[in-house]
Amino acid sequence: MTTNKQIHLVSRPQGEATVANFKLVEAPMPSLNDGQVLVRHHFLSLDPYMRGRMNESKSYAQPQPLGEVMIGGTVGEVVESRHEGFRPGDKVVGMGGWQEYSVVDAAHQGMLRKVDTTHIPLSAYLGAVGMPGVTAWYGLVKICEPKAGETVVVSAASGAVGGVVGQLAKARGCRAVGIAGGPDKCRYVVEELGFDACLDYKLHSDLKSLSTALWDACPSGIDGYFENVGGMILDAVMLRMNAFGRIALCGMISGYDGQPIPMQFPQLLLQSRLKLQGFIVSEHMQVWPEALKELGTLVATGKLKYRETVARGIEAAPEAFLGLLKGRNFGKQLVKLI
Ligand code: NDP
Repeated sequence: MTTNKQIHLVSRPQGEATVANFKLVEAPMPSLNDGQVLVRHHFLSLDPYMRGRMNESKSYAQPQPLGEVMIGGTVGEVVESRHEGFRPGDKVVGMGGWQEYSVVDAAHQGMLRKVDTTHIPLSAYLGAVGMPGVTAWYGLVKICEPKAGETVVVSAASGAVGGVVGQLAKARGCRAVGIAGGPDKCRYVVEELGFDACLDYKLHSDLKSLSTALWDACPSGIDGYFENVGGMILDAVMLRMNAFGRIALCGMISGYDGQPIPMQFPQLLLQSRLKLQGFIVSEHMQVWPEALKELGTLVATGKLKYRETVARGIEAAPEAFLGLLKGRNFGKQLVKLI
C-alpha cells in the first residue's frame, strides 16, 4: 500500500449538502516520527454532527476546514508503532477521519484508545459501546432521570442513539415509546429492541395525528423525552408531557440542512414546569467510564441490541453520509474500509 485514500471537504453547502461538497484525494502513505502510531482503519463512523461542521457558522465546535480530511470517529488496527504503549495488531478507537489510514500522536492523552474485541465486535465501539451509546446514556440517565413506572419517549428511535435510549429506559423499569420513520423501522424498534410501542411519524405526518397517536401510546402521559429530531415531533411530544417532565435535547436533525424548525408551544415549558436541557456528550468525559462499563456489559451479554448499515470503501462515504441525513440508514451508519 503506497497511497492513502481520503475524503476532503472542498466547499460548504448552500442549503442541502451534496456529494459536490466532497472530493476523493489519493495522498502518499504517511511515515512515522517518534511517539506516533500508524493505524489502518477498519470502520469509519458517519454521524449527524458532521453536517454542522460543514457550515461556517458559529456552533459549539470549530467548522471543518476546507481542503482537509473530514473529521470522523474510526476503529482499526495498529500497523506500525513508534510509541511504547502500542504494538502492531492492537485494536484501537480514535478520530482518524474519512481516510484509510491515519498517523496518531499517541503521546497525547485521549487520541487513541485500545479496545478489547474478545466479547464486543470492533464496530460496536463506534456505536452502542462508543460515542452514540454514551450520548444515549448521558441524556437519559443524567437529564431525563427516569424512574421505574415512568414513560420515556425517544425520536429517531431505530438509530444509533435512539435504539440505546429505549433499551436503557426499559432496563430501568420504564415504558419506552419510540418515534421513527416507516413501518420497518417501527416494527424493528418494538420486536427486536423491545420498546413498548413505536409511532411512524411519516404515517402521522401532522401535529394533530402524531399527538393523538402519542396519547394512545402513552396513556399516563410522558415523563422523559429524548429529542433527536426537533420541529413538529417536538411540538407533538410537548403537548403530551406531564408536569415536571424532563427533555434531553440531544439533536435536531430535521433542521440540519437549513430547514426552519420553529417551536410552536414554548409556553408549555412554563405551564407544565418542564426541564429542557441541551447537552454535548464530549463535554461530559467524567461519565464515559461509567456509561461504557454498563453499555459494554450489556452488549457483551447480548442484552443490548443494535443494528448497522455498512457502506463499502471510502469512496462511498459521501453518499452514505447524505443518506443518513435523509433517514436511509437503518441503525448505526458505518463505512467498512478493509
Ligand atoms: P441515527 O442513526 O438516528 O440516524 C439519523 C436518523 O435521523 C435517520 O435514520 C432518520 O431516522 C432520522 N431523521 C433524519 N432526518 C429526519 C427528519 N427530517 N425528521 C425526522 N427524522 C429524521 O443518528 P444518531 O443516532 O447518530 O444521532 C441521533 C441524533 O443524536 C442526531 O440528532 C444527532 O445529531 C444527535 N447526537 C447528539 C450528540 C450530542 O452530544 N448532543 C452526540 C451524538 C448524536 P428516521 O428514518 O426514523 O426518520
